[in-house]
Amino acid sequence: MVKKKAMAGAVLSLAAIAGLGLSQITDAHGPNKAKFHHPEKAKNVILFVGDGMGAAHREAIRLATVGQKGKLAMDDMPYAGIVHTSSTSAVTDSAAAATAMATGVKTYNGAIGVDPNKKSVKTILEMAHDAGKSTGLVTTSQITDATPAAFGAHVTDRKKQSDIAKQYIEKSKVDVLLGGGEDYWYPAGEPGKFEDHSAKDESEQSKGTEGNLVKKAQKLGYQYVTNKEELEKTNSKKLLGLFANEEMFEQRPEGEGDVYDPVVPLPEMTKKAIDTLSANKKGFFLMVEEEGIDEMSHENNAEKMIKAGRQLDQSVEVAKKYAKKHPDTLVLVVADHECGGLTIEEVDGKDESGDGISKEDGPFKVANSTNQFTIDWTTTGHGGVTVPLTATGAGAKQFEGIYENTHIFNALKKTMGLKK
Ligand SMILES: [Zn+2]
Repeated sequence: MVKKKAMAGAVLSLAAIAGLGLSQITDAHGPNKAKFHHPEKAKNVILFVGDGMGAAHREAIRLATVGQKGKLAMDDMPYAGIVHTSSTSAVTDSAAAATAMATGVKTYNGAIGVDPNKKSVKTILEMAHDAGKSTGLVTTSQITDATPAAFGAHVTDRKKQSDIAKQYIEKSKVDVLLGGGEDYWYPAGEPGKFEDHSAKDESEQSKGTEGNLVKKAQKLGYQYVTNKEELEKTNSKKLLGLFANEEMFEQRPEGEGDVYDPVVPLPEMTKKAIDTLSANKKGFFLMVEEEGIDEMSHENNAEKMIKAGRQLDQSVEVAKKYAKKHPDTLVLVVADHECGGLTIEEVDGKDESGDGISKEDGPFKVANSTNQFTIDWTTTGHGGVTVPLTATGAGAKQFEGIYENTHIFNALKKTMGLKK
């Protein structure tokens, strides 16, 4: 009798599971860590890189956006890690940091997908492609800038942006490429969709070294789009979207023509990339970078840094929505390094530690409160401190602990079941 009852209970709960779906069960329990809710293996991976986003950046974005009791989408995840970011130098740049995450190898600053001996190392994106998955790179920076580049290209110097573009379309065959940097896809004298020497930035002009790469991409089956409407409309499985000559924002100190207002906001690029890549039954690998956090921090511009950070968080929300319906999806949020030596301080006019552009910014309002805070900077360069990582979904447990940035590659490879 007892046995029978237990059986009936088992059958009932199985039926309940089948009816509810895994994601709803996770909801009912809140963000707990029970193994049952998510498979250990991830079919899909969405990796967010907040370029330059240290722990204090994340906290400033949180305070200004949701307040002291609030939780950002990127913080509302069940697993967290702390990541050492150094390259073969003590303080990394974006190229070496992204190479470490993409290949598991620590290298020199400026290196894109190559080891300290300048030898190419296979990337996680290339491995995912070889396993039949679709792949995508999305950024508010040039699509050929260091962070995306290290996932889909191999060059000895990050400045070779036209070589990087060529490798994306011919060698690593990245399915979805969305970002800025049209200037590297056209040779000098061919402005493309975005005019040379525009009022926004006189210095911008086509400077490609590999011919007309947009034409080449179209020949290889890419649909080329240059604005929001074209991006929304296209159903192409291979997508090249370039939305600015260089970055999709103007990084400057406060009040000197600083603009963070990408023509296609990062959450929309993220949504389109997921919609496009998820058509592949074998799954996908997508890296999404928000670059304004870093570049506004180089300018010690806290207001625009926070604005960029909010866009990153809304993009994470888009990915979490997808992952909720597809529990075999892993969503990660990390930074490549800190930028600006940013810290959060009390509002105190007597405690001013710098002048020029590195003077304190603010005060900023804490959301949902009368409290305020200021932001102070120690450098216009990168900081060497550890950065937080948060993870949710399939295989997220792999990212608990304190580890080197190279662990991200190893854990991704394991959780996606990829072979070299
Ligand atoms: Zn930087």
